[in-house]
Order: sequence, then structure tokens, then C-alpha cells
Amino acid sequence: MNTGRVVSMYDKYIMDTYKRVPLCIEKAKGARVWDIEGKVYLDFFPGWAVSGIGHCHPEVAAAIKKQAKKLLHVSNNYYSRLQGKLAETIINNSFPGKVFFANSGAEANEAALKLARKYGHEKGRFETITCLKSFHGRTLGMITATGQEKVKMGFEPLPQGFVHVPFNDIEAVEKAITDKTIAIMLEPVQCEGGINIASPGYLKGLRALCDEKDIVLIFDEVQTGMGRSGRMFAFQNYGIRPDVMTLAKALGGGLPIGACVAREKFQAVLTPGTHASTFGGSPIVSAAALAVFDAIKKEKLLENANKMAAYLKTKLEALREKHYFVKEVRNLGLIIGVELSIKGEAIYKECMEEGLLINCTQDTVLRIMPPLTVTKKEIDTAIAILDKVFGKNEGA
Ligand SMILES: *Cc1c(COP(=O)(O)O)cnc(C)c1O
Repeated sequence: MNTGRVVSMYDKYIMDTYKRVPLCIEKAKGARVWDIEGKVYLDFFPGWAVSGIGHCHPEVAAAIKKQAKKLLHVSNNYYSRLQGKLAETIINNSFPGKVFFANSGAEANEAALKLARKYGHEKGRFETITCLKSFHGRTLGMITATGQEKVKMGFEPLPQGFVHVPFNDIEAVEKAITDKTIAIMLEPVQCEGGINIASPGYLKGLRALCDEKDIVLIFDEVQTGMGRSGRMFAFQNYGIRPDVMTLAKALGGGLPIGACVAREKFQAVLTPGTHASTFGGSPIVSAAALAVFDAIKKEKLLENANKMAAYLKTKLEALREKHYFVKEVRNLGLIIGVELSIKGEAIYKECMEEGLLINCTQDTVLRIMPPLTVTKKEIDTAIAILDKVFGKNEGA
């Protein structure tokens, strides 16, 4: 089997919903992946931020293996020890409240918005304010919530009750609030949107507005959660708490999971029969997620993430001074954006040829999210590749 053969199976049997690059990944470990021909790459965007503590983390793999022999799935009409333990762990690491388990980011967000709608129902309040350039997932509800036209085109009519405002603009939110507003949902760092980092004043302002007007403040931490920002959850960098937080991506260490976490005030809004998920919080994914929390703690990965973020930032700033088209380097922990004054597509493709996997979003922003386990040596290798590829593009 080679890449060409796999690509031809996709051409014939897989719906064409993704822009793919011709790389067929066969195995991975930590920050390294191997393609089907045996070529090795350094992965600085592991699984779209899913493999947050690196691919096939040994603790996660061991937990899955052990649990696979015991119990894979139970329906949510019964109790499972691991789901309980995972919810306890999430709450102990975030804020007092309760958790609902789903299987993806979009589903976690759907749960959050259903909670908000239900909370506002008797008062006739149903409108949700979200941000332009946001990304909240691909269900009908979440493409409506997402503040980007390109994800909605062709799917109209869309569900009602969504208003979009510019990010980091508290006045725009104040103006958008009506007596029908029930929720404000946003990402503390817009990742798909180009690594736009919320200012502390903005999030504090939103917290005050939501308290004053009894509006549910929802943070979509699907991509920013699980240590990616240098703290376990991005909101912890800001000295405030959301009312509801959603998680997915890195939570399961590679297995599909989503979680909607609600503070005490909102923890009893969803009652029996109002929401459900067949697979949500199964023993096998809960075992994997518990192993992720364990590894972050045992291996002091938040400490490493902060150290390595500072090191990588310095190295990227040096590249900015050297290459004229590198405009800005932005980061919150290991959520890193490198804004270019040229298109980034050629850059990330050439990086791949040189053995480095990164991402490009919003046309001109390189998105770099190495695993929390990343080492100085791996960063040096990545920087050397970026330097070489930037150099080749100087004349472009
Ligand atoms: C990826 C992502 C989602 C959607 O998650 P899925 O698991 O693909 O449904 C939602 N919000 C943010 C911020 C994301 O990065």
C-alpha cells in the first residue's frame, strides 16, 4: 500500500468534504508522525490540537488497552465509575458545577446552547451573541453560531436567534444585547479565526455584563482547553470564570469526546429527557481522558508548555526580524499564530516537504501548536525548517 493507492480509495469512496494534502499517516509517537512510505515528520499541529500531549501518549495508550479488556461502552441509563471520576476531575480543575458528556466539540456547544435556551425559555429569551471570525462546529446550530459566512453558504434557512459582533469589542456586545438575549458564546482565543487573543478587559467586561443582565457566558474551549494556553483552561489566564465551558479536542487524548461544563447556578437546567448522547462519556473515552489529566499533572506539562512557549516565541521573533514578510507573532501559551504579509499556503506545504507539519488559517496566519510535551531540540529543528522555507520565499 502506498499514498497513491490510499488517495484513489478516498477519491472513489470518501465524500470530498476536506481539502487534503497528499500525506498518508500510518503511525505516530509524541511530536513525530510517520507516513505510509516511512518518511518521518515533526508534528507541530498534532491532529488539529487533538493530540495535545503528543500522539499515542504511553499513559493514554495503556489506559485504553487496560479498559478495552474490561468495558467499552455502557448506556447512560446506568452508572459508570470512570464517567463519574472524569467529571469530578474536570470540576476539580475548573469550577464547581456539573458536566454533560458528548462526543465532539460541536455537540458540546449544542449542549451549552440548549442549556442557555432552556434557562431563558420561560422569560422568552433565546438570542445568542457570538463573534465574527469565530468557529463553533459544523452542525446546523453551530454553523449558525459561527461568525463566518463561508460555513453557512448553501445550508439556509438556518436556525433563528443568533447575532454576530466583532471580537474584542465590548461596546459592540453592549449594543447587541436586547431583552431577548440569553447567551454570549465565544472562544477566549479564536483559533480558526487567526489566533486572535481576547484582551483581559474584554473578558472581564463580558463577565460584568452577563452578571448584570443574567446572561449565560459560554466559553468555547474546545481548542484552547487542556493546557494548550499554559493553564489547564484558557479562562484561568484571565482571573474570571465563564458560566459554561465546552471542551473536546485534546480532552480524550485522541479519542472522540466532548464535554459541557456548567457552573452551579446552571447545573440543574437540563433535566431528565431534555438532552442525551448514546456514546457520551463511555468508559473507554473516560479512561483515556483521565489518563490525559494524569499525564499533564505527573509530567508537569503545564510548566513545560510555558517554558517551551517562551522559547519558541523568542525563536519566532528572531525569524520575524530576519524575514520581511513575517509581520507578527502572537501567542497564549502554546497557541501560536505567525501572521504573514504573504499567503501562507505555499509556506506550510513547503514545510511539510521539509518534514514539519503546521497549519495555515485565514490565508495568512501560520498556526503552530506543538504538543505540550515538546522539547527544545524539537523546537530547534522546527525553527531551522521554518527559517529555510521562509528564506526560499523571500523573493515571492
Ligand atoms: C474544532 C472546534 C469545534 C468543533 O469541534 P468538532 O469536534 O469538530 O465538532 C468547535 N469549537 C472550536 C473552538 C473548535 O476548535
